[in-house]
Amino acid sequence: MTHQLLEHASLAQFSVQNDCLQIGGMALTRLADRVGTTPFYAYDRKKITERVELLRQKLPREILLHYAIKANPMAAVVQHLAGLVDGMDVASIGEMRVALDTVLAPEKISFAGPGKKMHELRSAIAAGVIVNVESQQEMELIAQQGRDLGITPKVAIRVNPDFELKSSGMKMSGGPKPFGIDAEYVPVVLKQLGLLGLDFMGFHVFSGSQNLSAVAIQEAHEKTVQLAIQLADYAPSPVKLLNIGGGFGVPYFPGDQPLDIAAIGVNLQHLMQIIKQQLPNATVALELGRYLVAEAGIYVCRVLERKMSRGQVFLVTDGGLHHHLAASGNLGQVIRKNYPVIIGNKVQGATREIVSVVGPLCTPLDLLADQMPMAAASVDDLVVVLQSGAYGLTASPTAFLDHPPPIEVLV
Ligand SMILES: *Cc1c(COP(=O)(O)O)cnc(C)c1O
Repeated sequence: MTHQLLEHASLAQFSVQNDCLQIGGMALTRLADRVGTTPFYAYDRKKITERVELLRQKLPREILLHYAIKANPMAAVVQHLAGLVDGMDVASIGEMRVALDTVLAPEKISFAGPGKKMHELRSAIAAGVIVNVESQQEMELIAQQGRDLGITPKVAIRVNPDFELKSSGMKMSGGPKPFGIDAEYVPVVLKQLGLLGLDFMGFHVFSGSQNLSAVAIQEAHEKTVQLAIQLADYAPSPVKLLNIGGGFGVPYFPGDQPLDIAAIGVNLQHLMQIIKQQLPNATVALELGRYLVAEAGIYVCRVLERKMSRGQVFLVTDGGLHHHLAASGNLGQVIRKNYPVIIGNKVQGATREIVSVVGPLCTPLDLLADQMPMAAASVDDLVVVLQSGAYGLTASPTAFLDHPPPIEVLV
């Protein structure tokens, strides 16, 4: 079948047979029967594997790939990725437990995020996980816990750089930020780190999320490497780990172009030469969340009712913003754009129409698609939101209106 008539570029990554989307090597209708209920999220393990393979192919061989669990913490997804990546980044004690339950050694796991509590730091240190230090106060707590436990904590300094990641969907660095230690203050902290006897691993710089500009990412990588080289002069011991962050974006909306990974790879190849000279003990890691899982996942709900209101068609479904906040437009605080939404069992359809897809919540914000072209659907048809493998279920307000949560499957 050809995709030329279809509205969504992201659909091109899926095969379609008899007008039905295929996922995990089977027809979506068959998967829905096997799951036995809607709504559900399905993540395709082969697509996740292929994504890691693509990165291995396009990026320098020495670059370590880490998975940032918060993008999709489903245990089966994390287990699958544990066999593919070199490490994981966790942002809570719950995520740390999921990561420690995999084959990965504790020193391959790093724990970032502001506001880490005493018991969380204690668990991380006891487990041998690397703690990414976000403030001076936190560093002092880490040292104290290490002394209590009789363990030398492994720490990396999370740096809030003096630059920002341009064209990022979400900026996490540059200017005043709650994340990391301001670059200009890092020399002081490094001195104290040495006096406290902590095991200095290196630096962590995460500057933004959902970036589709290879040029902006390359620039951030260059500045990150420069900054790490400058700061290394103040470190008590050589840099062993340089985590240059993630933020690789995926296309969601019309006009979004996939990220040029090859260009990022060429630039990193060049930067690796500099790193080998200037920071000879350092291994370099990329920590990616969204890029590894977003395109491998779909959200599926069922049409309960076709409703006409003053000339417009509404598909009322059993899914909605309580399961998929991002597709609804994040509670209407931003200019809403439609995620790629299709009728999964009538991808092309005999006739097409403009419809809005809504959920069961009593709010006009419960909108999965706003006046979008798709195949004419009837009751029981399956609505599919593509690009849903990252920041889906666990980034949604599932308690809002008290409907049951959706199921998740890795297929
Ligand atoms: C969220 C987060 C990531 C993952 O970001 P993506 O944009 O999903 O790649 C990586 N590192 C840290 C520290 C994060 O907080």
